[in-house]
Amino acid sequence: MMKLQVWGGAGEHGRSCYRLVGERRLLLDCGVKKEDRGLYPLLNPSEIPDLTSVFLSHAHEDHAMALPLLYKHGYEGAIWTTRATARQLNKGFDSWEHFVASRGGTLPYGPEHIEAMQFLYLEDYAPPCQWFEWAASHSGEEPIRIMWGRTGHLSGSIWLRLQTEGRHIFFSGDYTRESILLEADSPAVSEEPIADLSIVDNAYGTDDETQEIKLERIRSEIRSILEKGGRVLLPVPAFGRSQDLLIWACQSLAPYRVLVERAIWQGLLHLVDDPLWLRPGVAAHIRTLTQACSPRLVVIDNEAERSEALGSAGPCLILTADGMLESAVSQAYVEHLAPDSDNLILLTGHASRGTRARMLLDNQLPDVRCRVMHQFYKVHQGIGDVRLMLEEAPAAAVVLVHAPDVSTREVCRILQIEGREGLIPLTPGMEIVI
Ligand SMILES: [Zn+2]
Ligand SMILES: [Zn+2]
Repeated sequence: MMKLQVWGGAGEHGRSCYRLVGERRLLLDCGVKKEDRGLYPLLNPSEIPDLTSVFLSHAHEDHAMALPLLYKHGYEGAIWTTRATARQLNKGFDSWEHFVASRGGTLPYGPEHIEAMQFLYLEDYAPPCQWFEWAASHSGEEPIRIMWGRTGHLSGSIWLRLQTEGRHIFFSGDYTRESILLEADSPAVSEEPIADLSIVDNAYGTDDETQEIKLERIRSEIRSILEKGGRVLLPVPAFGRSQDLLIWACQSLAPYRVLVERAIWQGLLHLVDDPLWLRPGVAAHIRTLTQACSPRLVVIDNEAERSEALGSAGPCLILTADGMLESAVSQAYVEHLAPDSDNLILLTGHASRGTRARMLLDNQLPDVRCRVMHQFYKVHQGIGDVRLMLEEAPAAAVVLVHAPDVSTREVCRILQIEGREGLIPLTPGMEIVI
């Protein structure tokens, strides 16, 4: 018998954390939720020391920033992930600490617990979409079978298939097939294709629009502002859709200037250096395009360069590395653009309650006369993507995650009418037997 316990992430956006309990006790992700002073998974400290293995799907805060809690509460094992993910974590810890402090809170773990984290790199054991077996050398236990694939969401981001104790579990991580730059591996497998449990990203609920349609809307809004001499701010996370949108802007917004903060540019250089995560041929394309675009592409390193770039006249697009506008740098950009009704601040991702991005969207920030718009750039799955995923990765029990309960229930209702079985809406604190 195996149980799935939801410690966070189902029926809500954030703190992705799923525990699988059989003879082994496996944990998938351990993230936070950007609300109040920071919300953490509903973990029981006494159950942490006997976790057998921990898996991390990617570096975003809602999947990774509670991991040090495991080491605080006595976990002594490693975290299975990828090198690219491990590399991105430190920047995440810095900005999470900043967020918590800005709300008057303190971190529930110390630097020594971040320091204590150890990793096992999946790519050292098998390439994408191939099974490998693993057992702790001294244990004499039956090995666990593990397969991983790329999810197109972020460099280093993965889905997982796990087989243990006669059970087969699929976890999609955050998944999209529609990234401009990043490769996504189909989760289909030929042998034993039907999992006992699938945990599937459905952050966009019933939204069924393609990236192409969303991007066309983003393009026409941005161009109409630039053509009238205005400026556009795109607040984006340092890694992920930021690199897609940077390359897209180089391609689609000539002859206008593109100002980009160093962290986003650095993320693009990392992608070129580690092309495992890119679609075929994309590394060469990035090199050619950024060279061709260099006269109008301005990489900003510090305050002096920022004020010089903003001081020169004319329309421009600005990419700042903070999707929820919490950092001092992104707030400085907002202050620069806000007074002028010709400008636009365009939010392309989730805006959590209490963040400046949310307040901006709800007209709660003072002295904002520029336009403010919310248009998602796809980095997750809507209902159509979920249909395809359930065909490629069928399962007896399906738990849709990463969206509020009401949205998840509506998707389950629609899919059930279409004849799909096994959909189970869950919320934090609930558990099922698989
Ligand atoms: Zn993510
Ligand atoms: Zn996520």
